[in-house]
Amino acid sequence: MLLGDICTRRCGFCAVPKGRPQPLDLDEPRRVAEAVATLGLKHAVITSVNRDDDNLGGARIFAETIREVRHVAPDCRVEVPDVLNHNTESVPRLYRAVRSGARYERTLRLLDNAKKFSPGMVTKSGLMVGLGETMTELVDVFRELAVRQVDILTVGQYLRPSRDHLPIARFYTPEEFHYLKEEAMRLGFRHVESGPLVRSSYHAHEQADGIR
Ligand code: SF4
Repeated sequence: MLLGDICTRRCGFCAVPKGRPQPLDLDEPRRVAEAVATLGLKHAVITSVNRDDDNLGGARIFAETIREVRHVAPDCRVEVPDVLNHNTESVPRLYRAVRSGARYERTLRLLDNAKKFSPGMVTKSGLMVGLGETMTELVDVFRELAVRQVDILTVGQYLRPSRDHLPIARFYTPEEFHYLKEEAMRLGFRHVESGPLVRSSYHAHEQADGIR
């Protein structure tokens, strides 16, 4: 996870510390690439906290990290340019509580643009369930993602990191996760992971393999 360990946003489900971050670390790309090479990774998921204080600087660190990884570990697949994941996280009705700094329409537009600018790029998105959404709302979001040709979908149970985070509205049953997977596959996703412990990086390597 790049750009430090403090996020400028305050998503209600997320355990990453919030506040005023440290300045960007220009040596981070080199160290991340060194770690990827040392660990001999075949698939690296590169993500970050949000840095609304310095978006351009953050984008530069991302780009530089990808270049460095490509350089020192050319066989390693990188989950940004090889697979672009951008999580939808929840249904639009709950965005204010779940993802107050984000906009549902912007998430859809980002995934749409990724496919338009680079049709060969594998795109991926994920949602948490158990925050108070309905099945109908979930399937509506699946449909909107499918229309934008998102290839991979992940669906997992929300678990509350602490008492300070959003409460769990309910736990989904295995049958409900199975139903959601069937609905998503019917809508045209190429790969769907749906289960209580599924997260966006869950089996990321196999997800990408599964659609190639
Ligand atoms: S933007 Fe990402 S890291 Fe920041 S609070 Fe939201 S989920 Fe957590």
